[in-house]
Amino acid sequence: MAEKVRVRFAPSPTGKVHIGNIRAAIFNWLYARHTGGEFLLRVEDTDLERSTPEAIRTLLDCMQWLGLDYDGEVMYQTSQRAHHLAVAEELLAKGYAYKENKGGQGECVIFRMPKEGVIEYDDLVKGHMKKQAKDTQDFVIVRSDGSPVFHLANVLDDITQGVTHIIRGDDHVENTFKHIMLFKAIGAPVPQYAHLPMIVNAAGKPYSKRDGSAFVGEFREQGYLPETLFNYLALLGWAPGDDREIMTREEMVAAFDFAKCKASPARFDLKKLTWMNGEYIAHQPRAAFEQAFDARLQTAGLPVEPLNGHRQELLDQIQPRTKTYADIPGNCAWFFEEVYPFDAKAVTKRLHGEGIPALLEEIAAALEALPDFTVEAGEARIRAMGEEKGCGMGPLVHPIRVAVSGRMEGPGLFEMLWLLGRERTLRRLRETAARLREGTL
Ligand code: GLU
Repeated sequence: MAEKVRVRFAPSPTGKVHIGNIRAAIFNWLYARHTGGEFLLRVEDTDLERSTPEAIRTLLDCMQWLGLDYDGEVMYQTSQRAHHLAVAEELLAKGYAYKENKGGQGECVIFRMPKEGVIEYDDLVKGHMKKQAKDTQDFVIVRSDGSPVFHLANVLDDITQGVTHIIRGDDHVENTFKHIMLFKAIGAPVPQYAHLPMIVNAAGKPYSKRDGSAFVGEFREQGYLPETLFNYLALLGWAPGDDREIMTREEMVAAFDFAKCKASPARFDLKKLTWMNGEYIAHQPRAAFEQAFDARLQTAGLPVEPLNGHRQELLDQIQPRTKTYADIPGNCAWFFEEVYPFDAKAVTKRLHGEGIPALLEEIAAALEALPDFTVEAGEARIRAMGEEKGCGMGPLVHPIRVAVSGRMEGPGLFEMLWLLGRERTLRRLRETAARLREGTL
């Protein structure tokens, strides 16, 4: 029977969780769940300045938000220090390491790399990898202040945790050649490695915070759903091999396979992430959307009760059009407050033309004369007006929309007017016309 898969996520908490790191966690989690193995968490907290309790809390919170549940207890790397130092002593005793006084600062322990031959391994993503021993150098495993270095701690903890597969970003490939030699010197089996492709920007350079949001917390703040971020990041380096992009967690677990992982850099495409988020939001249960909707309105200082009631009908319009929660207050202010902001571009483009005030007044009069102010009646009336004028509906609907909402985008126009109600619609059309005549808009 094949050995049980044990993988681990081994972050060094810094207070913010980079999408590249959490992508590694997602791949580990998917592989563990796919194989029925275990997904372990090891907090590499040896940088005492940065790995504060708060940074660790942020990390755990991020994992929980994304549904990355881990098996067993968390291992904290600092708790293993005595073990790390004891093994360094053994490596010294066996001649795999030696002491050297570096720069008069005291003695460090240095690991001896082979001087000839090749170091090679089969990477589950990158294929066969090798490096000439003569191109490697001995490296420090215990600093002169007595603290174990990352390479030693990382390898030893993987041995202690019984890790079978090391899945991490390909910025660690160079380390892997060192680590393989450490495993061998210690006499432990070398795990399998899978190095995930670099996440890059549109220019093919490593994606960084200069390119836009790079931390999980920022995406959460902007109103990306955890389901979206999980799904999108899972596709940075992996694809199920068919046309599927939006998948449930169960579908991803079932389909996950290193054979379908790509070694070429994965481009982070914010537009695609945002599109995907819109799809997830559109399919959310109404109650979940409504809760987020209210929370965003409240934070923005908007009342949660719409001016004209019709809450569910408004949500029917807004939910399928929302790309991120952060857009909600800006997209909906017109429906909650009598004084709504006007987008300057929209005003210039749609309201500053010849004859607009008169047109808005004419439209107001036409809508006022309708026996019933329904979506269908409003639309039929404006269509008829466009035909009478021989200009079609376009030149009418755009100014109406900007006049009543201040914006160029939003729900279907006639649904919007119905949501506002006749009285408010007429008032907005006339007030906008008046302000345009006065030159105050
Ligand atoms: N703490 C290291 C990192 O976050 C661990 C790398 C690994 O997965 O081995 O880059």
